[in-house]
Amino acid sequence: MLRPIRQDERSAWENELSDSRFVIHEAMTKLKNSHYVYDAIIGNVHVKYALEFNNIPSRVLMKLLRATKRVSQLSKHFSIIPLSYVIVPCAEKRRWPSNEQHVTSANINGGFTYKTGDIVYIFREEEYPKVMLHEAIHHTHLDPVPSNLVGVETLFRDTFNIATNMRFLPAEGVVEAFAVYYQCKFIADETNIPFDAIWSRELTYMREQSAAIISSSKTKPWFETTNAFAYIVVKWLCCMNMDEFVTYINKQTYQPLLPFFKHAIDTMPVSMPTDRLQYPSSMRLTIFGDL
Ligand SMILES: [Zn+2]
Repeated sequence: MLRPIRQDERSAWENELSDSRFVIHEAMTKLKNSHYVYDAIIGNVHVKYALEFNNIPSRVLMKLLRATKRVSQLSKHFSIIPLSYVIVPCAEKRRWPSNEQHVTSANINGGFTYKTGDIVYIFREEEYPKVMLHEAIHHTHLDPVPSNLVGVETLFRDTFNIATNMRFLPAEGVVEAFAVYYQCKFIADETNIPFDAIWSRELTYMREQSAAIISSSKTKPWFETTNAFAYIVVKWLCCMNMDEFVTYINKQTYQPLLPFFKHAIDTMPVSMPTDRLQYPSSMRLTIFGDL
């Protein structure tokens, strides 16, 4: 259903989007220019997609319905509470910062949620179907709790040159690993393209992106004010060993993840790609996250 945005919705979204330190400032401009909303409701997932005009192109609608259907399937599978999504789809792409600058949420983040609530906010059009899965996964047992991750932060800090004053949340990388995994699973199911054909492309891309971060940390400690190291390097280590990692999926709780990460780091390829990144300026996290 396409309808005008209600004033109470607009005020509530403005409050959230102006409050969070993860949101790009373009989100407020996009919201100001948006006068309509499309309600996509599938299963117990309700998505409100902001639009500037009283029109939703068929391609935009199909993408939205497809992404909503995936979250509703995931929701059923993992018994997630009914989630409401608000999508304010800014056109700004994810970009690496220039060499002298560190990565911030403006370079990479696309959405946020509160584990204690039932609303997800997404403010970037790029990769939003995968971001929808990432945020839903925060509401499942796949998002590890601190007791699952005892020793993991120290292991990464001992292995990689991470700035000591940088906040580092390995759990974000675990959530992102599952997000890209399910994104590829859904695409493979929907298209009948073999999962491995899609997955191997993602693995190559995440390896290149990890190499870029690891090589940059060789000259100076890696510092950022978001979770790029987790989203990229931790995710890669999970995905590289996904067969082993998915054995955790059907359990209600994790085993401690420290042995998994020790093994993943020990078996990490010694020679990392040193070529230029395939998409040198883009900081998007996936190849297929827009489908
Ligand atoms: Zn997250």
